[in-house]
Amino acid sequence: MELKTTNNQKEYARSYQIRNREQIIAKRRKYNDSHREESKERSRKYRILNKETIKEKKKLYRAKNHYKTNAQKIAYCAIRDGNLVRQPCIECGDLKVEAHHPDYSKPLEVIWLCRSHHRILHNEEKRRQYEPRYRAGNKRQHALCGG
Ligand SMILES: [Zn+2]
Ligand SMILES: [Zn+2]
Repeated sequence: MELKTTNNQKEYARSYQIRNREQIIAKRRKYNDSHREESKERSRKYRILNKETIKEKKKLYRAKNHYKTNAQKIAYCAIRDGNLVRQPCIECGDLKVEAHHPDYSKPLEVIWLCRSHHRILHNEEKRRQYEPRYRAGNKRQHALCGG
């Protein structure tokens, strides 16, 4: 008896859904629309409330980049003045090299790398930064060396 009731309820719900299909879809769409506005509003409020934090972050980013260009300028001047001598790429010995700064606060401490090895190094650095899995050192690391 009870089972029959449950079935009837299910049946009823199904037929209700079929009968009111359009209405249900419209309702859902309306909900989504208002929700979208809500989330837009939320991010707008976030921007207002965190104006200072966002500003601070931008400033920090700019300062960091300034550091970087500064280090490059100093290294360039040092090369020009003969205080810093270009070395072949530490990976492949290519003579066309770029100066890589492991630490921008030490502009004269550079690693010499050819263009492609320099790019590889930066790509790996980025990957390590964004993929904590790499830090753990798992299978994916072997995909890089093929072993
Ligand atoms: Zn190289
Ligand atoms: Zn670099």
